[in-house]
Parts: sequence; C-alpha cells; structure tokens
Amino acid sequence: MIRERLLVVGNGMAGIRAIEEVLARAPGRYDIAVFGAEPHPAYSRIMLSPMLAGEKRFDEIVTHDRAWYEANGIALHTGVRVTAIHRDARIVVTGDGRSFAYDRLILATGSEPAPLPVPGSELPGVMTFRNAGDVEAMLRQTRDGARAVVIGGGLLGLEAAYGLKQRGMGVTVVHLMPHLMERQLDREAASLLQRELEARGIEVVCSARTAGISGTRQVRGVELADGRHLPADLVVVAIGVRPDIALAREAGLVTARGVVVDGAMRTSDPHIFAAGECAEHDGVCHGLIAPLYDMAKILAATLAGETASYAPLPTATRLKVSGIELFSAGDFSHDEGCEDIILRDPRRGAYRRLVLKNGRLIGAVLYGETSDGAFFFDLIQSGADTASMRDVLIFGRALCEAA
Ligand SMILES: Cc1cc2nc3c(=O)[nH]c(=O)nc-3n(C[C@H](O)[C@H](O)[C@H](O)COP(=O)(O)OP(=O)(O)OC[C@H]3O[C@@H](n4cnc5c(N)ncnc54)[C@H](O)[C@@H]3O)c2cc1C
Repeated sequence: MIRERLLVVGNGMAGIRAIEEVLARAPGRYDIAVFGAEPHPAYSRIMLSPMLAGEKRFDEIVTHDRAWYEANGIALHTGVRVTAIHRDARIVVTGDGRSFAYDRLILATGSEPAPLPVPGSELPGVMTFRNAGDVEAMLRQTRDGARAVVIGGGLLGLEAAYGLKQRGMGVTVVHLMPHLMERQLDREAASLLQRELEARGIEVVCSARTAGISGTRQVRGVELADGRHLPADLVVVAIGVRPDIALAREAGLVTARGVVVDGAMRTSDPHIFAAGECAEHDGVCHGLIAPLYDMAKILAATLAGETASYAPLPTATRLKVSGIELFSAGDFSHDEGCEDIILRDPRRGAYRRLVLKNGRLIGAVLYGETSDGAFFFDLIQSGADTASMRDVLIFGRALCEAA
C-alpha cells in the first residue's frame, strides 16, 4: 500500500500530540516526518518553569526521546526550520535548502513571545521565556546576588520570577496593571499573592510602564515611565504571546491573529491543517495545553477520514510556584449578567471567587487552598445548573453534596 506523506511543522506540544493521535487513529496510513526549529526532541514546555527553578533537569522533561520517533517510523528533523510552503507543488522548503513533498501538511508552529516595543529591548541580557534555549540562556546569566527584572506579572512572568529567585538572583517584577494577574484575580486576591511573593524576597512594582532598557553592550537596568530606574543584569520580557503565523501568511493561507481553521482543523487549503497556539478557531487562539490537545484529537480524526468538530471547553490553570496554591478556571470577562460570589479569609491567606451567569458557574479562582478546584472545574465544564446549591457553593464540594 502506498502511504500518504504527512509533514508536521513544529515539534512542540500540539505537533507531537497530533502525531500520537494520528498513529492511534490511522495506524500505517501515513509516512510521517516532523520538523522542529529547536534542537531537541519533544519536551514538556510547561515544565520549563520547574526547570528554571532547578526542580527538574531537561532530560526529565523530555516527553519523546529519539528512540520513540524511530520506533514509530517517524522522520525527525530537529534544528530544522521550514521556511516556505509551495502549495501548488505541495512542497515545503527548509532553512538548509532541502525540499520535502507532502500530501497533507500540519502547521503546529506555536507562538512567539510578544516583543516589548521600547528602546534597548535588543540589548544582550534581555530575554524571553518560551523554550529550553531561553532557559539555558537565563541560567548562563544567573549568579548569586545578580539582579533580574521580569516585565509582566501574569502566570508566565511570575513563574520566571520564582525560578530566578530560586537560582539566587534578586528579582523585581514590573507589571503594567494595578495588580498582578488582573485577568484572573481581583485586587484583594492579587494583594495576597503579592504579599506572598514579597515574603519570598521578590519585589513587585505594579502600575509601572517600562519606558526603556538601559545599557550599552549589556543590559544594565529598566527605565520606568515615572523616572525610576531598576538595576538589572538580566531582563525577562513576559508580556504575552502572539501566534507564529509567518509561514502560513507567506504561503497565502487565510490568517487573522492565528491561522484560520474550521471545526475539522482545516485551513483555507484542503491539504493543510493547523493545531495548537498558531491556530485560530471561531475567532479565538488558545494558549493552554488542554484546548491544544483537543484540537490535535480532532485533527487526527479528520486525517483518519472521520467526521469530528472542535468544540472549545473552558480551561483551568495553576500557578507553578512551589508553596503557592493558586487555581484559576473559566471566564472572568465580566459580561453583563455575571455575578461574583467571594469568600475571603485574610488571616489564613485564603480567597475564593466564583463567577456565575444564569445560574451556572463560568469562572473560579481559588487562592491559598485549592482542593476544590477540580469540583468547580467539573461544574464549569458540565454547565450544570447550580441554583439548588447556590448558598453553599462557595464552600466547595462537601457542603454542596450535603445540600
Ligand atoms: C514557561 C511556560 C510555562 C507554561 N505553563 C503552562 C501551564 O502550566 N499550563 C498550560 O496549559 N500551558 C502552559 N504553557 C503554555 C503551553 O506550553 C503552550 O500552550 C503549548 O506549548 C503550545 O503548544 P504548541 O505546540 O502550539 O506550541 P509550542 O509548544 O511552542 O511548539 C511549537 C514548536 O514549533 C516550532 N516551530 C515554529 N515555527 C517553525 C518552523 N517554521 N519550522 C520548524 N519548527 C517551527 C517551535 O520552535 C516550537 O518548538 C506554558 C508555556 C510556557 C512557555
């Protein structure tokens, strides 16, 4: 039997999951080759935070070693960037000048860190936190007593700050908004988090706009718009990501913020599919693992000739800072008709916030004590009517079940 040629651009978390799903659903149907710009086989990107903090080594976060690719008959091209897609000829071209033909092509190129548009952001010592190379670069700059400034007080920035602190650096987090993680936390919960970080020796500066980065041959500090200067030997920019769509755009595929896909994960070219952070479905690009895995499943079903359609579900995340319990799930966009139920226990350092809409739970943040996270997440995902337990909902599973 002649096998169809399936090429995958991007050996990250969505690309490798798509391959696993294809192997499971359509065994033997495709000759698979994967191209990864990074030099490594697949690893867990989310574990870069514990790696930065010294809690994991790189070899412990590798999810698929080279033997796995070989055993599954997959041609792995590491350190190889795909630079062009010639759709008429159905060929991709790589940075080293080679061409590869495909019958089906998957784009799983992920995202790039959003750049900080200020003078000095190109200086050596200004870094991002996206891949293993970034962590290795940061670790080369860390030394006891040296100073790091992390720009961005979201999940990623805080995990970077924690990791660098664990490596012995003095760390300041600079955040544009009045409080940390403003998309998930209200002011009070954020101040509990800030206090906890400060107790660990991480300085937090909110409502601070970065005006520039100083230094000549190496970064020396961060200039804030209010005139303050924060000395720094290392600056980490963690202000968000943007889908990596350059390849798709240059190939003439329909793109918006991401590569536009339909529910079957097909792009505007029927031979080309996309999944992961680079894909935009129904106007939305996702930035967490769970939806990317769902996309990979749907994509594989399509490639196996099945009919399936992607339906996004609410997502949940935890801050990966040892000793800080923070769980956040669902939607906090404060649409009309939403109501908040909040429980605060400042002495215990605990906080809970539930967001309800039309009697259903749509968002939950737990700080300090997160054991009910899975319970609330189930309610969000199922869309169950919570009216009968509304009065005790905030107290979690035990009281709700009794009610
Ligand atoms: C430090 C960190 C912590 C995180 N923690 C969490 C968490 O706790 N929970 C959670 O849900 N999510 C977390 N995330 C987000 C999660 O890791 C991403 O959502 C996920 O990795 C995206 O998968 P992807 O395959 O779309 O992109 P990626 O994993 O980024 O993979 C894309 C790959 O494609 C390669 N590539 C791009 N263009 C080309 C090209 N032209 N040719 C060849 N290769 C190319 C890239 O080099 C990259 O290796 C975290 C992210 C980071 C950086």
